[in-house]
Amino acid sequence: MAKILEASDLKLKFEPAYDNAQALLCPRCGSANLHHETVLSFHRAEEDGEVLMTRIEGAECIVNMPVNNLKNPSRRRGAVRVGFCCESCDKVGHVGVTLNIIQHKGVTYFEWCLVEA
Ligand SMILES: [Zn+2]
Repeated sequence: MAKILEASDLKLKFEPAYDNAQALLCPRCGSANLHHETVLSFHRAEEDGEVLMTRIEGAECIVNMPVNNLKNPSRRRGAVRVGFCCESCDKVGHVGVTLNIIQHKGVTYFEWCLVEA
């Protein structure tokens, strides 16, 4: 049965790691064993302009592919979407957790996006 997440679970949480580094914690289970897998970068030079996406997954990279803005986490400008796999809670049926880094009106926002099975 899927865990029901509270809004507070979706806040970014960290634990101290080494020097000035902090370990990002999984929003589902709190584990620090997250691995980034896919990175999508959405470039939009101006509002309502064309959206170009670059996708990196392992050794594969697709650069500047025009996409529909519905794929872009930012409605107006650019964004980065990082897909993570969690060693502790990723199982069949879980889609994984995604961190969106969104630019909006000169401010950078971080948000978790996840789908539960
Ligand atoms: Zn987890």
